[in-house]
Parts: sequence; C-alpha cells; structure tokens
Amino acid sequence: MSETFFHEGDLVGVLTAQPLDRVLDYKAPEGGVFMGAFVEVPLGPRKVLGVVWGEGAGDYDRSKIRSIIRVLDVPPMREEMAEFLMRAADYTLTPMSAMLRLATRAPGLGDAPSMRKVYRLGDQEPDRITPAREKVLGVLRDFGGLSFTLKEVAEMAGVGTSVVKGLVKLGAVREEDTPRDMPYPQLEPDYGGKELTEDQARVSDALKEGIRSGAYGTTLLKGVTGSGKTEVYLEAVAECLRQGRQALVLLPEIALTGEFLTRVEARFGMKPAEWHSGVTMNERRRCWKMVGQGAAQMVVGARSALFLPFQDLGLIVVDEEHDTSYKQEDGVMYNARDMTVLRAAINGAQVVLASATPSLESWANVEAGKYQRQTLTTRFGEAVMPKMSAIDMRIEDVPSGTWVSPTLRDAMAERLEAGEQSLIFLNRRGYAPVTLCRACGHQIGCDHCDARMVEHRFLKRLMCHQCGETKPMPTVCPHCEAEDRLSAVGPGVERMGEEVSALFPEARVAVLSSDLYGSARAMKAHIEEIASGGADIIIGTQLVAKGHNFPNLTLVGVIDADLGLQGSDLRAAERTFQLMRQVAGRAGRAEKPGEALLQTYQPEHAVIRAILAGDEESFWAAEAAERKQAGVPPYGRMAGIVLSSPNVQEVFDLGGEMARRDAPLRQIGAQIFGPAPAPIARIRGRHRVRLLVKVEKTAPLQKALAQWAGQFKLPSNLRMSIDIDPQSF
Ligand code: ADP
Ligand code: ZN
Repeated sequence: MSETFFHEGDLVGVLTAQPLDRVLDYKAPEGGVFMGAFVEVPLGPRKVLGVVWGEGAGDYDRSKIRSIIRVLDVPPMREEMAEFLMRAADYTLTPMSAMLRLATRAPGLGDAPSMRKVYRLGDQEPDRITPAREKVLGVLRDFGGLSFTLKEVAEMAGVGTSVVKGLVKLGAVREEDTPRDMPYPQLEPDYGGKELTEDQARVSDALKEGIRSGAYGTTLLKGVTGSGKTEVYLEAVAECLRQGRQALVLLPEIALTGEFLTRVEARFGMKPAEWHSGVTMNERRRCWKMVGQGAAQMVVGARSALFLPFQDLGLIVVDEEHDTSYKQEDGVMYNARDMTVLRAAINGAQVVLASATPSLESWANVEAGKYQRQTLTTRFGEAVMPKMSAIDMRIEDVPSGTWVSPTLRDAMAERLEAGEQSLIFLNRRGYAPVTLCRACGHQIGCDHCDARMVEHRFLKRLMCHQCGETKPMPTVCPHCEAEDRLSAVGPGVERMGEEVSALFPEARVAVLSSDLYGSARAMKAHIEEIASGGADIIIGTQLVAKGHNFPNLTLVGVIDADLGLQGSDLRAAERTFQLMRQVAGRAGRAEKPGEALLQTYQPEHAVIRAILAGDEESFWAAEAAERKQAGVPPYGRMAGIVLSSPNVQEVFDLGGEMARRDAPLRQIGAQIFGPAPAPIARIRGRHRVRLLVKVEKTAPLQKALAQWAGQFKLPSNLRMSIDIDPQSF
C-alpha cells in the first residue's frame, strides 16, 4: 500500500474506526501522505484516527472538504494487513470500521513517546561493597550493556530498590532517560534448546522445514498433554527467528501467559512481547509500535494479537486450538483459529494448531488434505496417560446434599496418605447454581436475564453469570416473603470445597475458580503456589483444565461427567470429550502414574465410553459421520442471526418476517430454522430470538445473508447480529 503517494491538497479517502458506512474524503496535508498511512482527521468537532485508504471519491463539494490534521509517526498499514482486514470483514459480515478498530487497539498511537528512567552498569567502582550491592552489579554485569527499569533490576538481584539507588549516587550504576516505547531485547534462537526425543525431533524437523519454505502451510500438532507439543513448537519459533521473521503464539487463557513467558525466557534468554487485556496501556502501545517496526520478534497473546501490524509474520501458533475462547462472541464475531489461517495464507506464514484434543473442524481439514498432521504419541519421560474409569453413581451411596461418592473418597484418602495431590473437577463457579425457596418453590433469577442467580458464598452475594449483576444474598424469599426458607441446591466449586474439607479436615484444600481473585496476577500466584505443593486437594473449574502443570498430581475426580452432555447442542459430545480428556491429562505428569475417575449416571453413554476408552480416532470418526449426516459444521455451513430488543413483540415480529421473506437464502439452497428464543432468551433486559441458517459448504453464504438481511428495516432499538460458524447449534 505504501507505494502510492498523495501530494498536498490531493483528495484521499480515509477509513476511520467510526461506525460510518463509508470512507471519508480529506485533503492530503502539507508534505503529502502515503497510501496506508495512519492519520488524524477532523470529524465534526472531534479528531479521530484513520488510515489513508485510497483516492478520494470526490463526490462532495470540494471547498467543504477538510485537511488531514497530521500523519502519525508509525509505519503505514501494510498491504497484507489491509487485505486481511477486508477478507475478514467479508467473511464475518463486519463493517470495515469495526475491523480497523480491532487493528488499532493501542491508545495514543500518535503521541510522542513519554520518557522513563532505566538503569545500567556505571563506570565507578563503589568504595564499599556489600552483598546486596554485589548482587545488583553482578546482574548488570551479566547483561552487559543492557538497561532495565528500577523494579526489574531490584527484582532480578533480589534486593530492595534503595540498594540500586544507592549505587546510582556512587556512580556504580547509571540512571538514564529513554523513551517508554523501547524495543524488546533480542531473543536468541539457540539459547536454551532441549534435547528432543526421536519422536519430537521428527515433528520439529517437519515444522522447521515448513518455516524454511517461506510459504503458507498449516499443521495440526496433536499430542497428549505432556508429550512436548510446546517444546516442539518453540523449536519452530526458533527457526522462524533465525529466518529473521516474526512469530506469534496465541494462548486461550491470560492466566497461562505467566507460566508460558517463563518458559520462553528459559528457551530464548529473554521474555517476548505480551498482548492481552491484562497488559497496561503503555505496554500495549509499545507492543503495537514495536511489532510494526519489526522490533518485537515474538508476541505471546490473546486472540486479538492476530490484528497487530506485523512487519513480517512467519509463524502463528494457536495453542489449545480446540478452545472455545478463541471464538469472540460479541462485537466482531470471529474465530481466531480460522482467522489465523487466513492471515497466514495472505502473509506466506506457517500455522501450527496444537492440541491434545483437536476440534472436529481441524480433523476435517486434515482429512480433506488442507492441513498436515503431526502426532506426538507418548508423554515425555516416564509419564503415561492416566488410567480412566467410571464411577457408576446409580449404585453409589451418596448422602443427599453431598456429591463425593465413597469410591472417589477412598481414592482421595489414598493419595492424601501417599502425600500426593488430588484434583476434584466441577465446571461450575460459585457455591450453588440454584437458590430455591423451600416454602413456595421459587428459584431466584436475574432481573435482566433469563438465567438463575448463582450463589457465591465467598463474595456473600448472588451473581448472574450472564450479565455479571450481583445482589446481596436475601434472607427472605423475594416471591412469598417466607423467612429463612431459602436453600442452596446443587453444587458449585465453593460448595465442593466445603464438602471436601469436611471429609478430610486435615487436608489443605484449595479452590481454583476465576472469580475468586482480584486480578490475573493474584490468580497466577495462587496457581503457582498450589503447583509447588501448597495444597493437598485442588478443587477447580475449567480453569485447571487448561495447561497448568501440577507435577505431584496423581488423581483426578470428575464430580459430574454428564454435565456437558445435557442440552440440545450438537457440539456437546465434542466439548465433553475434549474437556474430560484435558482434565484427566492433568494427572500423572511426572514420574508418578495417574488415575482419573469420572462420576456418571450414564456409564453406557457413547461419549462417556469413548472418553474412558481413550479411542480418539473412532470417537472423531463417529462424530464426523453424525455431523455429515446432519449437514452441519464442519461438513456444512451455518450462521446464527440473533435479534435483540427490550421489546419482545418486536423481535418475534421481525424474526417471523425474516423467515418468510427468505428468497435470497432459498436461492442458494439454504434452510432456515426459527425464529426461536436464543439459547439465552434474555440478557441485560434485552429479549433475544435466533434464526439459524444452514447450507452446503460451497454455497456463497455471506453474499446471500447480506442481501437477505438488507431487505429489512430495523426498529431503532432492535439490534441484529450475524454469527458465521456459531459455536452452538
Ligand atoms: P505439552 O505442550 O504437549 O503439554 P510440554 O512441551 O509442556 O508438553 O512438555 C511437558 C513437560 O515435559 C514440560 O515440563 C517440558 O519441559 C518437558 N519436556 C518435554 N520434552 C522435553 C525434552 N525433550 N527434554 C526435556 N524436557 C522435556
Ligand atoms: Zn443477568
């Protein structure tokens, strides 16, 4: 894009992140401007960020057209990026303005960098040396001429900041001002590589060959938890760095980044750049700029990192590629895994999709010959996949109001005796999912959503897991006003914590659930403490299923293996299979063999049997056959259209009209289902109905959808959102 240049006064079209339907005309500023440049333009009384997108349309009165205010000091948008944004916009039926907003999510891009103080080795030797001073000087000597912030130096040396400041006064440490947006330190591809097993080396070689080809390619890297997938894809990152290209690693969960950054540092000598919602605004701006200048070689981030302005992206890794959090469910509804493949194809980059339990989508792409597949079959070291068995809850004697069966209890007692850790898994946050009035049968619901309020005893409040609204735990029933008749029904992790503590009063019990922490940092610290032996029994939600290392963990007990199988979602089997395998994979990572026990009321259910047998290939084959038969993803295409409004009549009326006037969809052979209440029929006071559209894989779905949806006039407070490839159907 940057080849075309516009001289001062030329008419240019500027794309802004404002919700407008069109690119706006402006005059090129003094000194001219390149195509793709990031600029600041006047819009009404405001100044907004934009990108020079092409020649102006020239259909306005020229004398009224205003000038670009200034050109920002960042590299222009690259042609690949523009193409990626346009194709992603077409695919997800999203306006370009919204795509640009995703691609510029770093505040103050145009601002001159502010300064900060950094510290490095000075020229003077201090006349009196203390052990603390020696530590500081030692650290700085180790890093040659590099400089660090005060906090970094103190942390690395393990001393207080006053020691460093004292050395500054003596001239032994130098204090300097540098711009905040400093480049990241160089990563060294050959710093800390491990010796790979034969199996790992074979896979690593294949990935490295892909990188060296300099062309696009996608590899599904499948391997049980602990088989060394991370180790192997870090080798691919190393190769990418050797080629002088940038690498991006996407993780599904911010809580995992800490552990992962430490691993990257051990492998490459330095930490990479970080991009996710837990990173400060300054740090985000620095990351965005350095990525654009090629001065960040590796980025570790959440799905939105895919929209960073990489100068030369050579590799994208999507770790835990099956994870549903890669799908953004509001705003621009995109699946980061699919967008990764699109971006890589445009950039001539390699993609590695890593998982122990790949999505059916990726299996299908391997089957169709679109992706390569590499498999790591054994766990590293002596570790083996845990022995899995079912506990048949129909024949267990479990007192009411409790959920741990005698069989599971005995297994836990054994581990406790042996000094090993147990994990009790229940994918339900809070204390109890239902609060019921024993006098009138009323269940307390959210005032704004079609959802029950969940008791969080730790917070002493009821919480809606849809909208996040909380209210104090009432003492009288809001319906019949009976006093002291409200009771908790069903288990959440907090309640399991109570039960387990009562069963094993001598054990140290830790409850792991994302809502129990004030910050990602606090959560990370707690997880690390637990991993290093700070608890005997861990009780956790889905959070623990995602890649944490608990070396001393040998037993996993699943309280309710049937939980995910309820409901009508066609993906339920796939989800349950993945989750149960992931959770079980937490046990027996080191030299100790593990065991997983699944409490279930339907041990003969096909999915439960497949989980126990660990026979993935046949599970996926059976699942694929069913989806093919039904013509649903990944063998057919779907879109979900959600209409929402405070007015329930309006959404059903429009939904009905849309279902009737379906000519553009019928033309491509699509079927329409609904309108029906959406899976959650009311959120934040807005009623929601959903239509589902299903069509053959090759049909031009987006074009037909746009035509169809374009026929209807929306009442002012009614919102329509179109979700291509919805997660539930
Ligand atoms: P996965 O990503 O498949 O879960 P990891 O890459 O995290 O597996 O490996 C599991 C554990 O085994 C990690 O602690 C890792 O450092 C270790 N490991 C894997 N391969 C090797 C190797 N070749 N040499 C030394 N340690 C290894
Ligand atoms: Zn709510």
